[in-house]
Amino acid sequence: MPAVRNRLRDIPDTRPKRVLLAAPRGYCAGVDRAVIAVEKALERFGAPVYVRKQIVHNVHVVSTLEKRGAIFVDEVDDVPEGAHIVFSAHGVSPAVVQGAAARGLDAIDATCPLVTKVHREATRFARDDYEILLIGHRGHEEVEGTMGHAPERTTLVNSPADVATIEVRNPDHLVWLSQTTLSVDETMETVRLLRERFPALQDPPSDDICYATQNRQVAIKKVAEQAELVIVVGSANSSNTVRLVDVALENGARAAYRVDYASEIQQEWLDGVATVGVSSGASVPEVLVQEVLDDLADAGYRDVESVVTAEEDLMFSLPRELRRDADGNPDERGLGGRTRRLDWQG
Ligand code: SF4
Repeated sequence: MPAVRNRLRDIPDTRPKRVLLAAPRGYCAGVDRAVIAVEKALERFGAPVYVRKQIVHNVHVVSTLEKRGAIFVDEVDDVPEGAHIVFSAHGVSPAVVQGAAARGLDAIDATCPLVTKVHREATRFARDDYEILLIGHRGHEEVEGTMGHAPERTTLVNSPADVATIEVRNPDHLVWLSQTTLSVDETMETVRLLRERFPALQDPPSDDICYATQNRQVAIKKVAEQAELVIVVGSANSSNTVRLVDVALENGARAAYRVDYASEIQQEWLDGVATVGVSSGASVPEVLVQEVLDDLADAGYRDVESVVTAEEDLMFSLPRELRRDADGNPDERGLGGRTRRLDWQG
């Protein structure tokens, strides 16, 4: 979708206008890896390459990959036998892997390694006879994939309100796990309520909410403390993006909106606003943020100040099915990382 320019008007304000740009924002290592995996699969095998569910939750990324020959499907049954299929960054249950194998599909697993970590925890705790309370959003692909690793032993805790009504078999042998993209503060509140009901509740061995989700929330908090309006770039089905809007509102922003594209910014959002905060979800290419900054500049917000709360350099190697080129040589483009992706336009 082309950028729509010069739509916003510069309405004079007695106070200086500025933008506070949150950092970190945008692409995380798991998203970068998953997008590269589809690109490489297309290069290696040619179109079409099938992808189960959206590879990452961003409409721009998905539509761009579609133009290159990716076909997004809901289930492995929608894929012709013998075709190539990529599993999305959100992960899949063992049943999906088995379903793909039964159809003779050539599967490439782009599940984020930090989601795989949660899968392993679920499998291990189930094997050790624990009951798992999984904090996450009902229907989210990641939650479905994680629950599928221990279906008999997992109870979903969809919201703090669920805590009062959930039933467990043995309150002395419980552990909580979580979706990777939740609000840290809300999750900790849910855990506190769970522990009130089940004092023996065990913590996971390490944080399930991933570094990228946490870092983006810390940065937006800092921005929201000083901004009247916060604009978060990202798609409606992107959990971590939607959480950034919530966190901004909870931490001082008078208003906060999510947009897929700069063209969605409404002139009236800027009425009486001197400071605009800007961030983006973990599945958002930086080019979309730049378009927002360009349109804000048209509206007089030309002074852009970065609010940096962390540096990120994490990279993940590609799915093992793609680590070597067609001749069997190691593929040097096997690493992700958001620096490389700053100019990704699809
Ligand atoms: S948001 Fe976190 S868990 Fe999800 S893909 Fe990115 S790094 Fe992985």
